[in-house]
Amino acid sequence: MLPQTAAPHPLPTSAEAALATRLAAVAPEAYARSRNHLDGAVTRLSPWITHGRLELPELIARYRLSGADTLAFEFGWREFFHHVWQHLGDGILADVRPGLPGVPYQPTLPDDIRQGRTGLPAIDRAVAELYATGYLHNHARMWLASYAVHLRKVHWRCAADWLYGHLLDGDLASNHLSWQWVAATFSSKPYLFNAANVARFAPPDWHCPGSAIDTDYPPLEALARSPRALGPSPGAPGLAEPALLAAPPDNLLDPRDHLPPDSGTPLTLVHPWALRAGPGPRLGVIHLPFHRRFPWSAARWAFVLTQMRAVTDRIWIGDLRQLQGRFHAEATLNPGYREALAGLDAVLAPPPRWLPEPPRLCSSFSRFWAACGQPSPKRRWHG
Ligand SMILES: Cc1cc2nc3c(=O)[nH]c(=O)nc-3n(C[C@H](O)[C@H](O)[C@H](O)COP(=O)(O)OP(=O)(O)OC[C@H]3O[C@@H](n4cnc5c(N)ncnc54)[C@H](O)[C@@H]3O)c2cc1C
Repeated sequence: MLPQTAAPHPLPTSAEAALATRLAAVAPEAYARSRNHLDGAVTRLSPWITHGRLELPELIARYRLSGADTLAFEFGWREFFHHVWQHLGDGILADVRPGLPGVPYQPTLPDDIRQGRTGLPAIDRAVAELYATGYLHNHARMWLASYAVHLRKVHWRCAADWLYGHLLDGDLASNHLSWQWVAATFSSKPYLFNAANVARFAPPDWHCPGSAIDTDYPPLEALARSPRALGPSPGAPGLAEPALLAAPPDNLLDPRDHLPPDSGTPLTLVHPWALRAGPGPRLGVIHLPFHRRFPWSAARWAFVLTQMRAVTDRIWIGDLRQLQGRFHAEATLNPGYREALAGLDAVLAPPPRWLPEPPRLCSSFSRFWAACGQPSPKRRWHG
């Protein structure tokens, strides 16, 4: 049985201690052997990487990785998605190429998926874990996306926005382009999974014997390419979805957070994707127009504001376009932040990247990887 409400989020009392524990646990060889399994040796570093507390070049050096290592190869996927984002900008938020022809997709995420009561354990477990922890293993994300898009015929965009808001590591490029990769609007074929795949990589309480996905791939592909959708589960009420908030909740705020900063001294602006200590004095900034468009769970706000307070002198919450003075900041591709930072009297540093930026857009990961001079991938599938 699934719990009827999400468990409280296990926020660390000391964010730095939690990070140190995670970093000490990284084991690149075990990762290479087991990363596809839900209980494999994955790093769970994604929230710190997404929010700029950790940089890929630093991780590559720390674990002495090269492009031949599986962990570095996966870092490469993040760099690839950001390379595509650099070229397409907000274009990543719409179909990159036409998807499956003649398939109608609904524009909202059905309640039984949101509430984790579809009746498919692999999906319902994933939703419960997402709400409880703000994290999902890559395979669980792929199953969830494939189920929503190809079996329930939900348009990838609304589902991607929902997942983005609940993940602690929500990253517009990695998330929205992965959804498109699953949906076949950023790949040449739909990503599908079946009960045997779940049984191979997940613990028994995720297994789906005797369900609609307990079949071979040809019928699943025929369903994905047809206008037919699996119906919603008529079951009992499921999980309460945590609210997605367009601004930090009051319990995380300091009374000074809405006061405009002193414009006398040049400040380093620290936004949510660059949570590192830079040259001081440092002002943490939350640009509300972005968050009205892409709201976050309270757990994600807590994660970001805790890290931000640790590396800044104070935080300011408002509209960045109103700031006056001279600034230093790291550029970001996040819409709203990107334009507002560019409009300030600010010296903008490029975000740190591990791989060199190829001059032209690479339309596939393998092209990107080769253009960066990396060795041939050991496998061809994403995940
Ligand atoms: C539908 C879907 C949505 C996703 N949304 C996000 C997202 O919002 N933010 C995000 O960072 N990743 C996303 N991913 C990619 C991947 O699932 C996560 O990066 C990974 O599961 C994070 O867990 P980890 O830190 O334990 O990863 P590990 O396997 O330990 O990998 C280490 C790091 O490499 C990077 N990485 C690994 N795999 C991928 C990948 N396939 N694509 C991009 N980067 C990768 C991440 O920075 C990750 O933290 C998504 C994947 C799918 C299929």
